[in-house]
Amino acid sequence: MMKKIDERFDSEQFIQEFDLLTKDAEKVQRDTLKKILNDNFDSEYLQKWKLENADPEIYKAKVPLVTHHDLEPYIQRIVDGEITPILTKKPITTISLSSGTTQGRPKFVPFNDELVDTTMQIYKTSFSFRNRLFPIRNGKALQFIYSSKQFKTKGGLAAGTATTNVYRSPQFKKTMNSMQIPCSSPDEVIFGPDFHQSLYCHLLCALIHRNEIQVISSTFAHSIVHAFRTFEQVWEELCTNIREGVLSDRINGPSIRIAMEKLLKPNPELADLIYKNCSSLIDWYRLIPTLFPNAMYVYGIMTGSMEPYLKKLRHYAGELPLLSSDYGSSEGWIGANVKPQSPPECATYAVLPHIGYFEFIPLNDGFELEAKPIGLTEVKIGEEYEIVVTNFAGLYRYRLGDVVKVTGFYNSTPELQFVCRKNLMLNINIDKNTERDLQLAVEISGKLLAGEVVDFTSLVDVSNEPGHYVVFWELSGNLEDERILGECCDCLDRSFVDAGYVSSRKVRAIGPLELRLVKIGTFQKILDHFLGMGAAFSQYKTPRCVGKSNVEVIRILSSNVVKSYFSSAFG
Ligand code: AMP
Repeated sequence: MMKKIDERFDSEQFIQEFDLLTKDAEKVQRDTLKKILNDNFDSEYLQKWKLENADPEIYKAKVPLVTHHDLEPYIQRIVDGEITPILTKKPITTISLSSGTTQGRPKFVPFNDELVDTTMQIYKTSFSFRNRLFPIRNGKALQFIYSSKQFKTKGGLAAGTATTNVYRSPQFKKTMNSMQIPCSSPDEVIFGPDFHQSLYCHLLCALIHRNEIQVISSTFAHSIVHAFRTFEQVWEELCTNIREGVLSDRINGPSIRIAMEKLLKPNPELADLIYKNCSSLIDWYRLIPTLFPNAMYVYGIMTGSMEPYLKKLRHYAGELPLLSSDYGSSEGWIGANVKPQSPPECATYAVLPHIGYFEFIPLNDGFELEAKPIGLTEVKIGEEYEIVVTNFAGLYRYRLGDVVKVTGFYNSTPELQFVCRKNLMLNINIDKNTERDLQLAVEISGKLLAGEVVDFTSLVDVSNEPGHYVVFWELSGNLEDERILGECCDCLDRSFVDAGYVSSRKVRAIGPLELRLVKIGTFQKILDHFLGMGAAFSQYKTPRCVGKSNVEVIRILSSNVVKSYFSSAFG
């Protein structure tokens, strides 16, 4: 059925509004800060710093830069049910759990309606620019989105991952419908009790609607790759379900079953077509356009720790463009991709100046040049910064921990490239390697293989002197030559070009790098571990550097090692 015209979203008008907002980003920033501070002036936290007014200079002089650790006591009181204005004037009623895959435990952050609004602003901004290139008309989106379990905190607040909180908001569905890309799966699938069942049903729903699917998306690109790897395992079963109109027993949640049975009717022609098409594929190349002939693009966050999945995603997508989505976190959104034509590796994010107040700590090679952050419009092209956020949900001068590089400006607002997480480092003595350095090293050395590196992580082993880096690889099924694997290990070692690392290796202050191969399925076990702790698959990012506190992940890795190699790169 056609949607009513007045419900439709006008992307050109939205771009005009965005143009206006970004013309004088500095003023918009000042107004935004004023609004945040005026709204929350009476909160305990802001009262503590004795602000006289909402002047940015006074704000920056009086309110300190903080990390999540500093705010934890305040957030904990909210979580425990205190309803006095602690961080915000309006009580916080919902809590988000950040993915927490790096530190081994999720962090609690405040969530409110204002964050839902800013999420929709971001979605609409990037959609408007995307729609100029790839206009969507009355289609459906295969969205690999999953809700994590929401639970009540001790104080009775609803808690779930930020993505779950967004999917549960009525605004989410309204926005998707107005953009004419409703999800091809019913709510019962998105909110299903079990992630594996939801994934199977997302695939089944999309196949049933195969001609209507115009977009394939997920929050992070990893979920799309994971979904089609799963498809490779279950495709015949999916075809049988469609042929017979009978849902597999593996789907045993009552509500998800009822919802799926309403959709599933025997359709032997469709089943035969999918079966024939899939049988003709070589190594599943072009799987996505083969399944969904009217798909226009594949969409999700593809930068940062998602880059290693791009090769496989390109393989599945064939000629379909891969478009990176936006940049944000459980703590709030930052920027939208307004240049969807850029290859995902080069994606940048234009900061929306009205969704928060942003400051930038200048960095030089990962180190702070001076602790004094600068304003949104003062940043310089080519420089790297750590982002500091003040938002509508009670975070004031909050260090996000992400490193970004300024690549240009859209009107007067900067365009940022994501560089890496700041605290994610391989470090033994004077060496310093980020997740990006590790990613590059794996990319270079992985080229020597006949097969592919399915996933990877690392840690520093200082249990013996000298300490050394350990890199874990899970490989695809192909049998690899022993000699090549030894060369991969040497290549990894040589690919860390940080001067501190190289000099420490030369004088043996750091020992030979160790490459440990783990059994197929090890990274699935790590994923299952995080899901078991309440993480949502939608927000999952494989931890690229496992800290000491991540005991269970270290146990899973260690118990699945099949072989290890030591580098001979430095003699
Ligand atoms: P979460 O902790 O689950 O809220 O994840 C938020 C983090 O994901 C951010 O702080 C970034 O480190 C990462 N992230 C989010 N968006 C992007 C993006 N577009 N590119 C790279 N990394 C991103």
